[in-house]
Amino acid sequence: MDTDPRELLRRHSVLPFATAFMSAKDAGRVEDTLLQGISKGPRSIGSLLRGVQYGLERPKFCRECVREQRQELGESFWRRSHNLPTVHICLRHGLPLWQASSAPLTASQHLTLPLPHRQADAVAQALPPEWSRHPLAEVTDATLRPDWRHQDGWATTYRRLALEHGYRMVSGNVAGARMSAELDAAYGEAYLQPLGLRAGVRQNWASLMVRENETAPFSATKHVVLQTFLRDGRPQLAFDYPKPGPARRDYMEVDKRLASALMGRIKALTEEGGRSSVEALLKGEGAWQVTCPVSSYQ
Ligand SMILES: [Zn+2]
Repeated sequence: MDTDPRELLRRHSVLPFATAFMSAKDAGRVEDTLLQGISKGPRSIGSLLRGVQYGLERPKFCRECVREQRQELGESFWRRSHNLPTVHICLRHGLPLWQASSAPLTASQHLTLPLPHRQADAVAQALPPEWSRHPLAEVTDATLRPDWRHQDGWATTYRRLALEHGYRMVSGNVAGARMSAELDAAYGEAYLQPLGLRAGVRQNWASLMVRENETAPFSATKHVVLQTFLRDGRPQLAFDYPKPGPARRDYMEVDKRLASALMGRIKALTEEGGRSSVEALLKGEGAWQVTCPVSSYQ
């Protein structure tokens, strides 16, 4: 098989996810290190890849994908995009993923793992809260695309989004502790704990990620979980902010209200013979920042 090893890594391994939130330079150095078999790198490759596996003991698959694969190829295979810690549904079919019945620990156990269609005892996995399933998968999937753009300064992006969402102290700094607490509440400990994202700590990982001059590297899992929260985790505030007291979590109701407000605007525009973009419409309803704040994936 005449395949460029670098292309093989990019298209068929989980490395693009693991290095997605590094600068292009650091991601390139990790790739070089792996390709050259040198053990020294910008970060320990072992810990980088172990981080990707955290919370992913058993391989996952979509039953409908497996049915299609068998129809087309007579076989089934494990999809890379399904086997990342922050993916719980199939984006193609919108179905929850299933888990293999056993957890392969060694390379040889991986090789002898029965293919998805032979996983007769597959088990349903515990799912994150409903609001997060689709956006988590979308944000994760973007990191595997060839047009993914590495960038420095994610902290600046997160800080801006957090401030836009009202996590602002009187001093003008980001209210990181409050943001972390709301993130914990939005996902729930049952979801965060198995991913190694300990909740309820005052200076926890999420508040560190929005801190100015923070240089520590954060796992791709943390980036995806924080981005998804800042993107979709608290849409109710776009409408009810600044309502005191605990945040409401009635997303169905929020969606219904947004849809009906948008329909009203579209109707009014049509009657006036006017035109508008989706962005302008959503901005008019105060929902653009919430639905599309991190738009650099397209
Ligand atoms: Zn599927």
